[in-house]
Amino acid sequence: MRGTGGISEMPEVTESEALSTLHRVFGYEAFRGEQDAVIEHVVAGGDAVVLMPTGGGKSLCYQIPALVRPGTGVVVSPLIALMQDQVDALRALGVRAGFMNSTQDFDERRVVEAEFLAGELDLLYLAPERLRLDSTLDLLSRGKIAVFAIDEAHCVSQWGHDFRPDYLALSLLGDRWPDVPRIALTATATHATHREITQRLNMPTARHFVASFDRPNIQYRIVPKADPKKQLLGFLREEHAGDAGIVYCLSRKSVDTTAEFLSRNGIEAVPYHAGLDSGTRAAHQSRFLREDGLVVVATIAFGMGIDKPDVRFVAHLDLPKSVEGYYQETGRAGRDGLPSTAWMAYGLNDVIQQRKMIQSGEGDEAFRRRAASHLDAMLALCETAQCRRGQLLAYFGQDPDPVGCGNCDTCLAPPETWDGTVAAQKVLSTVVRLHRERGQKFGAVQIVDILMGRRTAKVIQFDHDQLSVFGIGEELGEGEWRGVVRQLLAQGLLAVEGEYGTLVLTEASGTVLRREREVPLRKEPKKAVTSRSASGSGSGSGRGERKGKAAVVELPEALVPAFEALRAWRAEQAREQGVPAYVIFHDATLREIVTAWPASVRELGGVGGVGEKKLATYGEGVLGALASLGGAEAAPAVTDGDSGGADDWPEMDEEPEPEDWA
Ligand code: ADP
Ligand code: ZN
Repeated sequence: MRGTGGISEMPEVTESEALSTLHRVFGYEAFRGEQDAVIEHVVAGGDAVVLMPTGGGKSLCYQIPALVRPGTGVVVSPLIALMQDQVDALRALGVRAGFMNSTQDFDERRVVEAEFLAGELDLLYLAPERLRLDSTLDLLSRGKIAVFAIDEAHCVSQWGHDFRPDYLALSLLGDRWPDVPRIALTATATHATHREITQRLNMPTARHFVASFDRPNIQYRIVPKADPKKQLLGFLREEHAGDAGIVYCLSRKSVDTTAEFLSRNGIEAVPYHAGLDSGTRAAHQSRFLREDGLVVVATIAFGMGIDKPDVRFVAHLDLPKSVEGYYQETGRAGRDGLPSTAWMAYGLNDVIQQRKMIQSGEGDEAFRRRAASHLDAMLALCETAQCRRGQLLAYFGQDPDPVGCGNCDTCLAPPETWDGTVAAQKVLSTVVRLHRERGQKFGAVQIVDILMGRRTAKVIQFDHDQLSVFGIGEELGEGEWRGVVRQLLAQGLLAVEGEYGTLVLTEASGTVLRREREVPLRKEPKKAVTSRSASGSGSGSGRGERKGKAAVVELPEALVPAFEALRAWRAEQAREQGVPAYVIFHDATLREIVTAWPASVRELGGVGGVGEKKLATYGEGVLGALASLGGAEAAPAVTDGDSGGADDWPEMDEEPEPEDWA
């Protein structure tokens, strides 16, 4: 039973200050996972290094100590563009929060400084480059600090792609404020990063809290890439109509064309990449946070620290470079714990392109080797016939469930494998013949055309119909042959070379040609898995019939109009106040409200996510909105001929987005 202000039925004598703060301010029933232990440790003055997946609930781990301990909690975060929203969200909860960064003018900053010195701030957000200034350190030493929180702590890691040199200076906090506890938090899970954080932030005595990295509400799916934009459109219409989500592409150009394609087909989408001016980027990010159901198509420049809880899907149209990157990006879906999808289209050209990029990219041999091993792990995930989640968790050193997760494509529709030894030999022989008999090297398209006995212009031009291997592969279709080549590349039984991505043998190829080993291959799935295939994992009510809107999937049909009405009410509040909708209430809270159907403000106070301040601000509004009903949508038809052909992918002249974000 929650004690909301004066309305608790029983005096809770033993409730800790941390727990009562959770109830009163945040309106949540109980701590999740390790939150309790972390908070207790930090409130008592201990240092902590916290590894928790995105959506795991890291914020409360420092926000509650900041509220419970005397003084201000100082939060170091690289995400300047999000500070205003973070502060708005806290203020909506009645928390006295402020920030200092380069977006403020002198007067605004002076106000925050004065509030801090007067002890009127519970939380103060700072960018690392500001914290290291003497003037800032000076200011901080004139006030009282409850705790230092170092968010996105993996930015201190020089090997990670989020490295921020200013983070290195944070090691001085411990010397300068030995009595103030420090808590470093990240969602990056590998042991190497973990060690680096501890060393570089100089936190040798910190206690380490490592949460499970599983995100059970995210459904992982990887589909064979054929016509990626259309596949994406189908996926969105079928399963995520009206939902907010992120689509990742490798190049700026494909970001632009994909956003345009979705918009043309009735799905509101905006582009985001480092080639856009900062005003446009900020506007698009702000719309994503504020509006319901907007899709952002982006390069990896977008997403870190986006704490929008109701991102219902993350789609990849190109292969990410590493499993870490993939997990970070997909982790942005479903922070609120509701069903969400991580969907990726993956094909032969992804493998060729990434292998080529590693070979022709800058960096020394060690760098290339590291990049290649990252890619190998990513390819293994794509090609596995086992549970995807199991493979992901194993990658992060966690024991997977031996029977599978039941919520990934391979668990929902286990792929068949077949003996591809002969097919592999045919591919490899063709590569060998071209090289031995003609001194030539060709890419995958030509190899497949030769195998299938196609007299294309290029086949005739090079007399390839005269080769003894011409037409020896008529038993398989084009898609299947591309699948064979792709899997050989992924398994290292074939390699790509040079600017044109020509195919060449590897040392391991010989073992296949000499029949010293078998080559089991994964069959390309016939039937696509959809989120509805997973109906066993949810409450099941009405899951099969309804289209789209994962957030309402598990609501009884009768409650959907009320949920929609509350969302509309919330959107209006958000617009009026100029804050993101989730600052008012999360989807999860709206769902709980319609399920509980509170008859009074008092009953509403018992719903998760409704704390004291929000009850006072919105209580009447919610009850009023419950009375009205609305909401329906219709999907327009595909209007576009922009099919792009099979496996469309960035042109040769396109530069993939550099790994910095602006
Ligand atoms: P992270 O920073 O680890 O990605 P957040 O701190 O943003 O995660 O929390 C993720 C979501 O879970 C937020 O919507 C937050 O309000 C919610 N949440 C966190 N802790 C709890 C809890 N104890 N009970 C209910 N919801 C929680
Ligand atoms: Zn699984």
